[in-house]
Amino acid sequence: MLEIKNLHVKLEEEDKQILKGVDLTVEAGKVHAIMGPNGSGKSTLSYVLAGRDGYEVTDGSAELDGTDLLDLEPEERAAEGLFLAFQYPVEIPGVGNMTFLRTAVNAQRKARGEEELSAAEFLKVIREKAKSLKIDADMLKRPVNVGFSGGEKKRNEILQMAMLEPKMCILDETDSGLDVDAMKLVADGVNALRSEGRAFLVITHYQRLLDHIKPDVVHIMADGKIVKTGGPELALEVENNGYADILGEVA
Ligand code: ADP
Ligand code: MG
Ligand code: MG
Repeated sequence: MLEIKNLHVKLEEEDKQILKGVDLTVEAGKVHAIMGPNGSGKSTLSYVLAGRDGYEVTDGSAELDGTDLLDLEPEERAAEGLFLAFQYPVEIPGVGNMTFLRTAVNAQRKARGEEELSAAEFLKVIREKAKSLKIDADMLKRPVNVGFSGGEKKRNEILQMAMLEPKMCILDETDSGLDVDAMKLVADGVNALRSEGRAFLVITHYQRLLDHIKPDVVHIMADGKIVKTGGPELALEVENNGYADILGEVA
């Protein structure tokens, strides 16, 4: 589903190399987790895949289901089925959450050659999905993320993901700022979307999210590279011993 080879990325504004040769293959139907110390480049990787400005790819490639992602505009990447749940969801004053989601869903359907959803169909779907994430009607009417708590913003990211039905879902520290109950809701939301044709890349600092979203593969990222790959037990090792042991061993 996602194939990243030797990805090197620097900042456009400064001569600072952030990704230094990332290799990563995420197969359809699988959940991969990425853990790693602060500043190791996890968010940068997700931004570069989503097409955020400010980064320059100096070497390597990234393909989604055989399509070269790096040449596409962000909206084209989304139309291809890529979704990123932000570490820091943005507030969009003046744009109603429901309007935003309906516009996004219909733009995506159009790009895929599907018919737009009618207002009634859209309402039915969004109400159902919002309910399962405990997002109330008031949050759907308010401007996107404005005045939402940290946890509400993260749940709203998962609502967007559930509505857009992407094939490659990237979650960047969606668990940070969530209490235990909210984390369970988010994990349930992700688990409900797991399917043969869809893959997940879950970036997290904490093992506890991975208790609920059981990953198939766990990667450790440090200093712009994936330095170790293993099974779910690798996340437990991080939880128990921190990164120092693993990084020392790799070095
Ligand atoms: P992580 O998500 O693993 O904590 P990031 O991808 O956010 O790491 O950051 C990786 C490194 O790149 C850090 O040293 C960070 O300060 C730096 N960095 C990322 N984006 C920028 C930017 N726009 N300007 C300056 N430094 C940046
Ligand atoms: Mg960080
Ligand atoms: Mg980050």
